[in-house]
Amino acid sequence: MLATLKEVLPAYLEEDAAVGAFNLAIAPDIRVLVEAAESLGAPIIMQVGPAVAEFMGYNAWGELARELAADANVPVVMHLDHANKTEPIWKALDAGFSSVMFDGSQLPFRDNVRITREVVERAGRYGASVEAEIGSVAYLGKDTHKDALTDPEEAEAFALESGCDCLAVAVGTTHMMKTQTASIRFELLGEIAERVAVPLVIHGSTGLGDDQLQRLRATHVCKVNIGTALRVAFDGALRAELEARPREHIFLELVKRPLEAEKEVVLEKMRLLGWHRPTI
Ligand SMILES: [Zn+2]
Repeated sequence: MLATLKEVLPAYLEEDAAVGAFNLAIAPDIRVLVEAAESLGAPIIMQVGPAVAEFMGYNAWGELARELAADANVPVVMHLDHANKTEPIWKALDAGFSSVMFDGSQLPFRDNVRITREVVERAGRYGASVEAEIGSVAYLGKDTHKDALTDPEEAEAFALESGCDCLAVAVGTTHMMKTQTASIRFELLGEIAERVAVPLVIHGSTGLGDDQLQRLRATHVCKVNIGTALRVAFDGALRAELEARPREHIFLELVKRPLEAEKEVVLEKMRLLGWHRPTI
């Protein structure tokens, strides 16, 4: 059965670990993520944004996730990433996603609280969890999201009033970075953690170096979102395969190595977040 963020994350507020949340682009990514998580004994959060969810259909993603979670020996969360409207969220809940994010980061504070509360209320009826955002994590090369650090006082009020299960904060990262040059403002993160009881979420974590990811383990950050690193690994390996094997047309043959490259990245990031093969 699929797990929720509410079930998975709070345990890592005090533990020296955080849970990796990885973005899916194609269906075989689900298998890659579950296999990687099982090999390290780690919970896994799989997430799709509304565009990817819509492309294959919410029900198809929900069904696939449920099937693989049923056989997995680690908790698996199926999460809708960055919905800035409620319509995709209602679709995801109907399709059996166990978790959703309402991203009201571009809205005035009161509107963000109001809509997040509405989402929390509706998700509760499905037993699903809700992530929200305060402050705004920008996107490299796009002007759709402003760049605004999270204010600790505002975060405290937002978490209390909205009732969200976990809170994404802006403390120095940027989405879609391909270099590991972002720098977390740990002092600001600490101030937020002192005021906010729910687990915190960092977006844009591909931009963080190894030492920064390791440092997050000891903080109240329990969910670490990583997407770009997987795509860079997969796409790079796929380009090499297409060039090396111009006559190969069997899809599974062509994507074998790209999927392996993606899995290596997932394993590496999970290890940095504190997960190691359990010793028996
Ligand atoms: Zn994000």
